[in-house]
Amino acid sequence: MQTISSYDFKGKRALIRVDFNVPLNENFEITDDTRMRAALPTIKKIIEAGGSPVIMSHLGRPKNGPEEKFSLKPLVGHLSELLGGATVKIAPDCIGDEVKAMAADVKPGEVLILENLRFYKEETAGDEEFARKLSENGDCWVNDAFGTAHRAHASTAVIAKFFPNDKMFGYLIEGEVESLDKVVKNPGRPLTAIMGGAKVSSKITIIENLLNKVDNLILGGGMTYTFVKANGGKVGDSICEDDYIETALNIQKLAKEKGVNLVIATDVLAADNFSNDANTKILPANEIPDGWQGLDAGPESIAKMKEVIEKSGTILWNGPVGVFEMDTFAEGSKAIGTAIVEATKKGAFSLVGGGDSVACVNQFGFADGVSYISTAGGALLEYLEGKVLPGVAAVRGE
Ligand code: AMP
Repeated sequence: MQTISSYDFKGKRALIRVDFNVPLNENFEITDDTRMRAALPTIKKIIEAGGSPVIMSHLGRPKNGPEEKFSLKPLVGHLSELLGGATVKIAPDCIGDEVKAMAADVKPGEVLILENLRFYKEETAGDEEFARKLSENGDCWVNDAFGTAHRAHASTAVIAKFFPNDKMFGYLIEGEVESLDKVVKNPGRPLTAIMGGAKVSSKITIIENLLNKVDNLILGGGMTYTFVKANGGKVGDSICEDDYIETALNIQKLAKEKGVNLVIATDVLAADNFSNDANTKILPANEIPDGWQGLDAGPESIAKMKEVIEKSGTILWNGPVGVFEMDTFAEGSKAIGTAIVEATKKGAFSLVGGGDSVACVNQFGFADGVSYISTAGGALLEYLEGKVLPGVAAVRGE
């Protein structure tokens, strides 16, 4: 398999699939350029190695063909700035003779952006002929869009067949896949997963898959109360999914069978209102009266969770253990973050992924203390669920 570090880009046009699906305001200004910055190492490497980057991406969800509001034009100036003033041009389309001619003419140090891939429904349909036409714009294909790696689209997977010997991951995907494999393939033990967030229902497939891999599974956040209720506890007004009581019992049973240490809060910080100014008290997780709801883990539970985390060799964190957006209920998630940073200092590998835990890590300043932060939502979750990602498999030739 080719790698971006060793491939010879000299004199080649590198067709790079990136995820430049950035948010734009009503004046078409970029409000968060994280995704563009994430692709810079790959783009810069190719320029420095004497190659010509031809960038392809989608933006938004255009319905029927080209729509000006989904054009990639507003990104041109900003990409140039991010590349220290490099000349960045945009093609009027992503396929066709004119585009092909522009791609053939990208000078060393210049960058060409192709227009929004999703102006063609063939992109998401994974149409082979469309992929072939895209492939005419490059001599090699670099997949660096982990955010769409779980989709078998023309530019993210199908195109691979037109570059049998000239396809590779960009640095972003390479980093994501290597980091995720450190968790799912050959983890340092003990392996601890902390799954938080609001609901069991949205995490169930991952939890079931993780039960085959982890030594410790810490379940926190709103999920707690479905488990507490399943065991006959009183959860008051706490968030609880009655339809998932059976599921919760089954997870407990599976954990026992597989020898997984399941850690769920035994005490909670309860509030008489879903508000930062609510009255609060520490209660046993199974004795929450009506009118009260559990919104964070309690001190006894936090201590237990910290102890498990600090002894871990590998840690995966997905989802806060409390309503961290409100200061009053952020202590549990802060403590989890601190324990992960401590374990990482001692040599553990820690991966934080999934929108809310990333926000949490950034909000409390833990970002520098963890080993890897994954920014991919759906693709990350599917990888953890044990699914094959088409965008990864296509590069690996699986
Ligand atoms: P998710 O998107 O499923 O990861 O859920 C994240 C959300 O879960 C965050 O916005 C948290 O505020 C919320 N959350 C965490 N713990 C609780 C809880 N005990 N009750 C209600 N919501 C919670």
